[in-house]
Amino acid sequence: MILEKSQLNELHWLMEMLHNIDVGLVVLDKEFTIQIFNGFMENHSGLLPREVKGQLIFDLFEEIPQDWFTRKAESVFLLKNKAFTIWEQRPYLFKFDSYRPVTGSADFMYQNTTFIPLLSSTGDVSHLCLLVYDVTDNAVHKQSLKKANAELAILSQTDGLTQLFNRTHWESCLLAEHKRWSRSQHPSSLVMIDIDHFKNVNDSYGHMVGDEVIRHLSGLIRHHVRETDICGRYGGEEFAILLSDTPLKNAYIFAERLRKEVAEATVIYNDIDIKYAISIGVAEVDESITSHEAWIECADAALYQSKETGRNKTSLHLKQTR
Ligand code: GH3
Ligand code: MG
Ligand code: MG
Repeated sequence: MILEKSQLNELHWLMEMLHNIDVGLVVLDKEFTIQIFNGFMENHSGLLPREVKGQLIFDLFEEIPQDWFTRKAESVFLLKNKAFTIWEQRPYLFKFDSYRPVTGSADFMYQNTTFIPLLSSTGDVSHLCLLVYDVTDNAVHKQSLKKANAELAILSQTDGLTQLFNRTHWESCLLAEHKRWSRSQHPSSLVMIDIDHFKNVNDSYGHMVGDEVIRHLSGLIRHHVRETDICGRYGGEEFAILLSDTPLKNAYIFAERLRKEVAEATVIYNDIDIKYAISIGVAEVDESITSHEAWIECADAALYQSKETGRNKTSLHLKQTR
């Protein structure tokens, strides 16, 4: 077959374009030796087409998992269908550096790759073509968005002053715990805490000192609880702690330990020594407590009793017996 000059020109242009496009292009035969290797591949690997031609792809690029690649390629040869791999499944096929100035945070080039069966004139597939797309910008943006969303989700659950859960999130945890209790009936106790005469702290020393006292108490709470306990700032100077798998007796021991430590502590702020105390109410969930709101009411009533009977003490919600 003799090609006309214009056809030759077109073929030449085509080759020129494929060599220069901003997509990696590699042609492999059935033994996985490289037949074509375009400019993109040359620029990013530092290997010249004549150096790689006839070489086994796995010898040159050790990062390519041989088993996985062989399975994928063989299905392309057999089924004569395209196959894909995206960066979310496999960040890259060829480990190239990332040069993007905007996405400097990426250590390597994220890639999507397409495997294309190349049909011969007889209809057989004796070669396959790999198209390698640089998707680093996309991947980095998507990952930073995901990270920002995760941080935002945590932030939306957290109280700014104490870093404990905020009331909304804490209440949703209590609701979940109450539901869990309805199924499993394991013991679970709720501890409500309120700082005594906190208004006096603010009035005597100012709000900044008041905030410091709130932070101090949240620090002690964090220090005393187990990882599975759920602590929240319920209101201004009110805290709530959900002690899962804890009967009333043990919750009382916990509460008293915390109360005594607070009573003995001194908060120091700009050379001012501040003493403060807390009152506590504890309620263990039982069958008479039919909602998480009712559970809060029981603990709150016990807390009110502590306030009414002298403060700086722990009171218990006792199960009603008929
Ligand atoms: P009681 O022993 O009965 O609990 O007395 P109390 O003074 O602690 O109770 P009260 O509810 O009258 O006062 C709570 C005070 O807490 C009033 C409010 O100004 C203050 N407060 C609420 N949130 C904050 C906060 O985030 N920072 C500071 N510094 N004060 C707060
Ligand atoms: Mg209060
Ligand atoms: Mg108070």
